[in-house]
Amino acid sequence: MKKLDIMIIAPSARNLYQKLANDFSAKEPNIWAGLLANATRKAGFTVVIYDMEIERPNREDFTEIIKEYNPRLILFVVTGQNPNASTAAMAGAVESAEWVKEKEPNNLIGFVGPHINALPKETLIAHEFIDIGFTNEGVYALIDTLSSDLTEGDLKKINGICFRDNDGNIHINKPSGIVPQEKLEDDMPGVAYDLMPSLKEYRTSSWHSNYHDLDRSPFASIYTSLGCIYQCEFCMINIINRTDNDSNLASANFNKFRFWDPEFTIKQLDYLAKQGVKQIKIADEMWVLNPKHFLTLCDLIIERDYNFNIWAYTRIDTIKEKYLEKLKAAGVNWLAPGIEAGNQLIRREVTKGKFEDINIRQVVGMIKEAGINVGANYIFGLGNDNYDSIQETLNLAIELNTENANMYCATALPGSPLYNKAKNLGWDLPSKYEEYGFLSYEHLPSQTKFLSAEEILRFRDYAFHTYFENPRFLKMINEKFGAPAIENITQMTKIRLKRKILGD
Ligand code: SF4
Repeated sequence: MKKLDIMIIAPSARNLYQKLANDFSAKEPNIWAGLLANATRKAGFTVVIYDMEIERPNREDFTEIIKEYNPRLILFVVTGQNPNASTAAMAGAVESAEWVKEKEPNNLIGFVGPHINALPKETLIAHEFIDIGFTNEGVYALIDTLSSDLTEGDLKKINGICFRDNDGNIHINKPSGIVPQEKLEDDMPGVAYDLMPSLKEYRTSSWHSNYHDLDRSPFASIYTSLGCIYQCEFCMINIINRTDNDSNLASANFNKFRFWDPEFTIKQLDYLAKQGVKQIKIADEMWVLNPKHFLTLCDLIIERDYNFNIWAYTRIDTIKEKYLEKLKAAGVNWLAPGIEAGNQLIRREVTKGKFEDINIRQVVGMIKEAGINVGANYIFGLGNDNYDSIQETLNLAIELNTENANMYCATALPGSPLYNKAKNLGWDLPSKYEEYGFLSYEHLPSQTKFLSAEEILRFRDYAFHTYFENPRFLKMINEKFGAPAIENITQMTKIRLKRKILGD
């Protein structure tokens, strides 16, 4: 029997969420695992996906299952639940890859995802058990790799990879192109949901299901577009578009936006609807950008009357009042704008664009007015943040009183311009993957000129509890979503994250 060509592993990032992992954090399908699986299957290769988050194998089970499948290539797709989490997700990925290599040194192990895109050479140096790293999204390089005999001579000729030769030397080959817009449907034909565990096994974040736990599954996330045209300092999502190996370049240099034809995407949504999925996360970094793309997709969803509950990201300066009625009709019940900072100067400093001209209060009010819930994103420790400006961010959050608020500390993520800046300024950078996990015990955020990492992290955790325990917020939630939602939030805020740098 012909050997399985590729086993795609979605590693588990469970350890990064502390006690929140039990009941609160989402379990998302690994979309990039699904995209790469479909691309390689279409190119004629045999492929399976193994999701460690769902299967939760121990070391023995995992190495046994690898032995059973005995693939030509084992590919760890390390994207995290959103691309900003790739570096933190490396923790679980390298642990399990090492299990495999120790058990069977001849297994060929590849890694793909934003972290290795950003630091290919460093990653191979750090982990002897990784044989091949992909230096961008990896579609073409992966197909070229599988088309080869996987010998050292073959690997030398493949663009878009770095690899370790038989003597242990590391080579970075020429970069590879990414799939162009006009070839997306052919060369990256959507997510192979059929190769994943049942979508009933996945669950969305509790706030997305209006804080009602029983409604969290089945759940699916999907990309309808890739990348973003903007160049925010703290963001590394465009590093998957890397087409130049120069290590001084960062995500902001590869700010490309591509989208699948809505007529193509709707077929994926048809499939999800048939599986009984109502909870959908549109994971696009920049969904609300090109009306021909997202409004056309809304029309197609509305025609089908799927009654989806959709969550999507937007920038505060790309969402317009004229879009809202259609978004709501398509089931977009949650929009997640990146508000980032309360202080206009800080926002201007870190988000390149016309963001500073926007009246945030007005935009959030307009979204709420349309009956769409707002899950606002805030970041502490941006640019030249000091105590006054991070307090402004918290004050703005409390004033806006949105139905959900994600609060993070700015972290110098590999691939972001901030990472290069921190390196150039000689700032302390995390030395362990877990330190990049926003909610992890080991989290080490970036400092600013005026605040230490400890000060920022302490403030973030204080801000989180201040927000979610605020009686005004709880009253609003009670009126909208009822007592079960209050119970859910109360249980969540009982969990106090432990933080190593704060002495826990
Ligand atoms: S707008 Fe969002 S996705 Fe785009 S670069 Fe800024 S943070 Fe990243």
